[in-house]
Amino acid sequence: MALIKLARQLGLLETIYVDGESAADKSNTSSYLNRLRKPQLTMQPYKYLICVDFEATCWENHAPPNWREPEIIEFPAVLVNMQTGKVEAEFQKFVMPIESPKLSAFCTELTGIKQKSVDDGMPLQTAIMMFQEWLRKELRTRNLQLPKMSKDKPIGTCAFVTWTDWDFGVCLAKECQRKRLKKPTYFNQWIDLRAIFREWYKYRPINFADAISHVGLTFKGREHSGIDDARNLASLAYKIANDGAPLAITKDLAPFQLNSNCIL
Ligand code: AMP
Ligand code: MG
Ligand code: MG
Repeated sequence: MALIKLARQLGLLETIYVDGESAADKSNTSSYLNRLRKPQLTMQPYKYLICVDFEATCWENHAPPNWREPEIIEFPAVLVNMQTGKVEAEFQKFVMPIESPKLSAFCTELTGIKQKSVDDGMPLQTAIMMFQEWLRKELRTRNLQLPKMSKDKPIGTCAFVTWTDWDFGVCLAKECQRKRLKKPTYFNQWIDLRAIFREWYKYRPINFADAISHVGLTFKGREHSGIDDARNLASLAYKIANDGAPLAITKDLAPFQLNSNCIL
């Protein structure tokens, strides 16, 4: 102990507290420690993320022989700036289901989506086209590129984020195939935030709300409202990135295909 005291008196030893405060130079040491602890946002491949969360027709105890294919009824997307965590643009459309036009009471209760909203909604193909217009404008304004738009920029600067592979990998893919709709190829690549979450925090959340609370966030709005889910997904993506997990593409349905045919 005497040796430590002497070393300190001679200025050879400096105490650095774990909360980031330094006895000798609070500001310098704490900013150094914060840099060490803080997100390496510069290592993030994407400047912006587009968080998407579809809601679809659903039924209680949905099993064969009464099984029906889900159809998208809400198409929301939020564009989040990964430097600031702010949502800079939003898209939301209600979509009219054709195969099962009448929403079940269970579905209305789960999603909060009213029958009138989907009756006044647009066909999925129109929603996809309107989304593309929104996407084009928001990407061009910020000079952003989606992955694989050209050979020289394969990673891009902006990517889609979903919770699980269901939204793009199952729901949209199957509905477009079934109805022979044109699905733009940029929907083939995305970041499944749940996959990154499980790996990074070594925790398997029971659902999306559990994931939100596990990292100390509070779910804002209504669970299973597509737009609220998408906004909360944006908060979670920002939080995970700030905790240090690099957010990279986890799924590509067409690994050998470029998206250069997309007019964006
Ligand atoms: P979510 O993004 O978790 O709100 O779910 C997307 C869609 O999955 C919903 O719009 C429903 O079609 C379906 N879904 C979610 N949770 C349930 C559930 N508990 N029972 C039946 N379908 C569900
Ligand atoms: Mg979802
Ligand atoms: Mg949802």
